[in-house]
Amino acid sequence: MTTIADLPEAGPRTRGHADPAPGYREPSVSGGLPGPRSAELLARQSRRESNARTYPRRLPIAVRRAAGSYLEDLDGNVFLDFLSGAGVLALGHNPPEPVAAAREQLGELVHGLDFPTPVKDEFTDLTLGMLPEAMRDRAKIHFCGPTGANAVEAALKLCKTATGREEVISFQGGFHGSTLATLSVTGLVDQKAPIRGRMPGVHIFPYSSCRHCPLGLTRSSCAVNCAGYLESSLTDPNGGIPLPAAVVLELVQGEGGVIPADAEFVRRLREVTRALDIPLVVDEVQTGCGRTGTWFAFEQYGIEPDVVVASKALSGLGLPAAVILYDERLDVWQPGAHTGTFRGNQAAFAAGVATMKVVRRDGVLANVRARSEQLLGHLEGLRELTDQVFDVRGLGLMLGVELAEPGTGRPASALARRVQREALLRGLIIELGGRDDGVLRLLPPLNCTAEEVDIAGRILHRALRAALAADATGRS
Ligand code: PMP
Repeated sequence: MTTIADLPEAGPRTRGHADPAPGYREPSVSGGLPGPRSAELLARQSRRESNARTYPRRLPIAVRRAAGSYLEDLDGNVFLDFLSGAGVLALGHNPPEPVAAAREQLGELVHGLDFPTPVKDEFTDLTLGMLPEAMRDRAKIHFCGPTGANAVEAALKLCKTATGREEVISFQGGFHGSTLATLSVTGLVDQKAPIRGRMPGVHIFPYSSCRHCPLGLTRSSCAVNCAGYLESSLTDPNGGIPLPAAVVLELVQGEGGVIPADAEFVRRLREVTRALDIPLVVDEVQTGCGRTGTWFAFEQYGIEPDVVVASKALSGLGLPAAVILYDERLDVWQPGAHTGTFRGNQAAFAAGVATMKVVRRDGVLANVRARSEQLLGHLEGLRELTDQVFDVRGLGLMLGVELAEPGTGRPASALARRVQREALLRGLIIELGGRDDGVLRLLPPLNCTAEEVDIAGRILHRALRAALAADATGRS
């Protein structure tokens, strides 16, 4: 079996994609946004598309094309894209090698259900190869329907089947998808509140969100009580919760506001779940495939989970793929236990193979760590502009700036929205998240360059300054 470690490695380089299309060397935005052609499409969209649409509401552009870290709208404005398709575009837009691999595959075979194929076989080798050696030999892979949510659903079904248990534990602030079961385990109340009849047996526990301790403690009085509370709830015969089928965790909460879990919290969670034989599911839909500077975030916590969920960046190209990787002892579900028509996108597998080769060859994981340090430096520098920069945090290239009132910690959501808008006007696309969308979220391509990071840092600085000035004069 070819593993990731067998792929040739040429040492760290900063550039994993070829030069972007001519003209995409820096952002350029002229006039207001949306420009006239974008405005026309946005208006048509709002007449015809669902009220549940999201991104174009706050990032009002219609997209023409993109290359590398840049994206161009219909009016010829060019943006540095630090949203990367919500973390999907590991190597930026249209990376040449994955594109070529997918294109070639399109002429061979596209839709393969779950039949074995050579390209799927190679993709399987490399995907399993992302796991640390100790887990790899015991790991099974299941190809899910092509979304993160579908793979989380699969993980829950797998664990329920294997344990014969009903309950599931998840965490405040967590996000796991928009289907009924995944919404049920999600911590974000606004999204689940309108939906009656969610999956029963879900218990949502405090997460180690230390800047806003869910137990109201300060750093100095913290004894990782969130871990202690979970331990005692699971082990106390009066704890109120029958032994659960699974504990589901994001190691860095993404939608919840870019919150890395505390290392001690994760270690103790692993200990207690192992002692009680409760499968630990890490949802690495967003953190996985290199985003945090290692193939998976759990490696940095020194734990071995029982189930790993991966999707988003798995094909590197934005072609859909989603899998669960899990310990073979759980593999007792029956044939057909988790089907789905679109589980065999061969072009996605071909692109994924090419992406993993590029990541390995070009030292992209090392680039993630280097660019992370560099970007964190820029984000820390925002503190000099205002005491409303409440926290700067993240792991690898999954970074966030929490804007909040300094005294109360209440989200400065209006300021965050303004910063996002001012950044867009200056040619930088970022996302918001966290409580009341008070956190600026950055998900740059994993192969972004030092120059691009400096450009983003400068734009953010100017955007925050402009947003603060607008705040001061009461403009909206
Ligand atoms: N889990 C996590 C951690 C996610 O960030 C997301 C998407 N943001 C999902 C699950 C759901 O993935 P999808 O939108 O592909 O269903």
